[in-house]
Amino acid sequence: MAEIIDGKRIAASVVAAVKAAALALEQRQGVRPGLAVVIVGDDPASHTYVAAKSRMAKECGFNSIQHTLPAGATQAELAALVRSLNDDAAIHGILVQLPLPGHLDPEPIIQSIRPEKDVDGLHVVNAGKLATGDLATGLVSCTPAGAMVFVRRIHGADLSGLNAVVVGRSNLFGKPMAQLLLNANATVTVAHSRTGDLPSFCRNADILVAAVGRPEMVKADWVRPGATVIDVGINRIPAPERGEGKTRLVGDVAFAECAGVASVITPVPGGVGPMTIAMLMANTVIAAHRAQGLTPPAF
Ligand code: NDP
Repeated sequence: MAEIIDGKRIAASVVAAVKAAALALEQRQGVRPGLAVVIVGDDPASHTYVAAKSRMAKECGFNSIQHTLPAGATQAELAALVRSLNDDAAIHGILVQLPLPGHLDPEPIIQSIRPEKDVDGLHVVNAGKLATGDLATGLVSCTPAGAMVFVRRIHGADLSGLNAVVVGRSNLFGKPMAQLLLNANATVTVAHSRTGDLPSFCRNADILVAAVGRPEMVKADWVRPGATVIDVGINRIPAPERGEGKTRLVGDVAFAECAGVASVITPVPGGVGPMTIAMLMANTVIAAHRAQGLTPPAF
């Protein structure tokens, strides 16, 4: 049976390191890391995520600010808010909660965030820095950064000689994850919906990362014995065994069967999920250090 990664515990250790770094920054420089979270409209799921981010930012000792715009806010109003946050020296990180209401175009908004305040790591400058191996000045998208914390804890910082397969090629996760693995010297394959014979690619992986959005797609016979399996997927499926109309969360990996083959595996929930907010906090404290001309802590 594989070792099961405790994402909550590892996220808590990242948050503890962020808290310590934030406190030291405040004591030495008199600067509190500032995180502004912007939400437009009243989508309940988005409000739940934003509330969790704001709560965690406060817990980290940050100056945590939430801006809520009405569902009818215009592109110009949202752009003006981002501009004012860009110009606010007390704000080191800006996060615009996605998805935006349908009448708003997210891309120009994301690209208008100053790259050094883009704590979601979605700006093309940050994507480019990651692609060129500049991890020293860029900010990395939070979920792949979190998955990489697991990989480093399992395999160390140097993945020389290891094959990594990332299933999924989104800008949010698959591509930055592949870049991070490549930067760490893994030999990386990126698979996607047009990949032929996906199971045989997966069987080649010492590190298999699934970020697809298809419940329990990765089966035991796709997993190389002894591999590390990182499951990023979050899928809600019916759970009639829990009562009528009930649901439960599963990943992209058939956990029970794959845990019998892998040497290390992440569960869903409680694996990669808790790392995303922790790495958002890490990016904010990193951005605050850089704004003072200081070398940021590593996470
Ligand atoms: P996207 O929908 O943007 O990308 C999914 C990727 O999976 C695409 O590259 C797609 O290929 C590929 N894909 C789809 N079907 C198949 C298939 N049958 N075989 C192989 N590849 C396939 O999703 P995200 O990257 O944003 O998210 C992926 C999953 O991770 C989701 O379940 C999401 O909820 C979860 N997630 C979790 C986070 C967290 O833990 N906090 C954060 C972000 C995501 P193609 O490009 O060819 O279409």
